[in-house]
Amino acid sequence: MIKTLKLISILTCVTSLAGAEDLVNLVNPLQGTDSANGFSHGNTYPTVALPFAMNAWSPFTEPVKDSFFYQYCHDKLRGLRQTHQPSPWIGDYAAFAVMPVSGALVCDEERRASKFSHEHEVALPHYYKVEMETWGVTAELTPTERCASFRFTYPVDKDAFVIVDGFPKGSSIEIQPGRNRIVGWVKNNNGGVPGNFANHFIVQFDQPFLDQGTWKPGSKPSKELKAEDKHVGAWVKIDPKKGPVTFRAVSSFIDLAQAETTLAKEIGDKDFDAVKDVGRRRWNEVLGKIEIEGGLPDQHRTFYTAMYRSTLFPHRLNEPGADGKDHYYSPYDGNVHEGVVFTDSGFWDTFRCVHPLFNILFPDLNEQILQGILAAYEQSGWLPAWASPGHRKCMIGNHAFSLFADAWAKGNRNFDAKKAVEAMLHDSSQQGPIDSIGRDGAPSYLERGYASHDVTHESAAKTLEYAYNDYCAMLVAEGVGNKEAAKTFRARTGNFKNVWDPKLKFMRGKLSNGEWMPDFDPARWGSPFTEGCSWHYTWSVFHDIQGLIDLAGGDQAFTEKLDSVFQSEPRVNNGAYGRLIHEMAEMIAANMGQYAHGNQPIQHMIYLYGYAGQPWKTQARVREVMNRLYHPTPDGLCGDEDNGQTSAWYVFSALGMYPVNPASDEYVIGSPLFGKATIHLGDGKTFVIKADNNGPMRPYIQESSLNGQPLERCFLRHGEIAKGGEVWFRMGSYKKEDWAAGNDARPSSQSRSAK
Ligand code: CA
Repeated sequence: MIKTLKLISILTCVTSLAGAEDLVNLVNPLQGTDSANGFSHGNTYPTVALPFAMNAWSPFTEPVKDSFFYQYCHDKLRGLRQTHQPSPWIGDYAAFAVMPVSGALVCDEERRASKFSHEHEVALPHYYKVEMETWGVTAELTPTERCASFRFTYPVDKDAFVIVDGFPKGSSIEIQPGRNRIVGWVKNNNGGVPGNFANHFIVQFDQPFLDQGTWKPGSKPSKELKAEDKHVGAWVKIDPKKGPVTFRAVSSFIDLAQAETTLAKEIGDKDFDAVKDVGRRRWNEVLGKIEIEGGLPDQHRTFYTAMYRSTLFPHRLNEPGADGKDHYYSPYDGNVHEGVVFTDSGFWDTFRCVHPLFNILFPDLNEQILQGILAAYEQSGWLPAWASPGHRKCMIGNHAFSLFADAWAKGNRNFDAKKAVEAMLHDSSQQGPIDSIGRDGAPSYLERGYASHDVTHESAAKTLEYAYNDYCAMLVAEGVGNKEAAKTFRARTGNFKNVWDPKLKFMRGKLSNGEWMPDFDPARWGSPFTEGCSWHYTWSVFHDIQGLIDLAGGDQAFTEKLDSVFQSEPRVNNGAYGRLIHEMAEMIAANMGQYAHGNQPIQHMIYLYGYAGQPWKTQARVREVMNRLYHPTPDGLCGDEDNGQTSAWYVFSALGMYPVNPASDEYVIGSPLFGKATIHLGDGKTFVIKADNNGPMRPYIQESSLNGQPLERCFLRHGEIAKGGEVWFRMGSYKKEDWAAGNDARPSSQSRSAK
């Protein structure tokens, strides 16, 4: 009986939270942290940050040199760090950390590390609290966009210290006892920055120091007030009898004066709880852009955790100047500019559904991101593809093109589209200084219509993505009336056909002489593909699914091929990798045949059935993925989260739709997860997705309407959502094969317009 009462009260609590203001409490920042180098359940860290902030904060369990820095299975914390890391595979930059110790002065990361347990850890987007058991200290932190406020509560009968760690690769520290503060800079990074790059920081305390000094790893702490070397830090002794020790950290990529300005603007005289309250309200506002009703408590937690992960990246680089304007240090030319710019996003991941989500929820922000992308082009000569903070050599494609076309198609056009066309003409026509910018393999792609395998690594994947990118560029060129550019790009949009093998009915790598790469195996991973095999890349024709259906031999052959992805054994051929990479292991663990939701290339594939008249199969499969592969737990993701992409997939899918072709204005309908979802579009407008008779065993759409009129197609248009309204579904437990199955019900493709 007592147990029953407890259960009821938990359920009531979750239901009321979901409906009320504190959505932030439904987020679990620990989702995805039970990961390690060899197997990813997300490869996330508990990000304590405001949405799209410049700086994020996180506890870390691993040595500072390890980019998999918070591992759920470990029981010691080495500090609380400022981080900018978008992915462990890219690594962190400009990181530094603070850590409390008591009793003895120990600075070195091994010796200062404290036991902790998840039982005494509170992780929320805007607040983190942990018991540092070794030192008997309760550590709390709460962030703003560029600062953080800290509260450390020490045992009163022991000496109390705060350690600041400047991390390796160059750091400088100065303690200013007269001003109760520590200032310094750190330079750690993994590339993509000019020589003058530095993160200038201030740690400002509310009380005087009893003693202070600097330290270097491997030697005894000194009482010097200044240190500068490969790796230095500071320590200060404070009086724990005066109550909790409070301090604030702020940083700037511009200079120390800017850091002071930022601290005054973002925190000023606000105490810890006031800063925390601002963060809580900011997150509730962002999460509250979508309200959900119905569904299970864990689905609410999963949904809002996905919303949180969808809105952490990209990081903002601009800082609020004393003149009231935005300024930023450009990682592209090393100068300070006026304006806004963002970083820490790999467009190969985020073009798919992160930016489409922004185009619905945050159109102004997305336009600012595009303005920043064009500024990066001006400053570096190339469009970014994987910036962190400047150009990094990672992944493939020209997916900034998709971001432009996506925004353009949705009517979010406050960016210089003419300049975008100029940049796309430039970038698509030549090899860049590193593989990831410009167009790797451009000479062979332009000459033959495919990147040939004997000259270009990952050639088939590149050919497929370039063809889509050229389609995106064509749309924007048409939009701005640049007919010549549109013609140039249009001629390449069908290039995906050049890597389709009509005999084997798979995409394949092709050689310069026109022959196929020998020894084809659809389960062979790696080059000519990227982190996947032909089973995954055969669907990478976002703009012309009808063209792909025609290649496959019509609707039936196409849907059978889609089915065969799930029906095949989850076998992997290590191929070019020569070993089992983590994405392979995750596909096998997911146990959905060759469907590899743990990586991005195939994430749109389930939504393709509607293009061939079988939308009911999409409905069943998306529910399976949502239910099996997403949980609000440390092991709750099925592969790298990747800057919001895998999370935004869940947000879209739970709403019941997905942007298969981001460069179109259409969203393919899947299977709404909740009884009701309300999207708040600004100006008081809402778009409501209602699904009557919904439930875990009722994934199938029986009937639908849009604003009261029968809806007889399996997609929604952006304009229908953006102007507000209501789409209604009646759900059921049995498939309704004729729902939106007719010829006129299909989404558009380049070679087939929608009715
Ligand atoms: Ca990935």
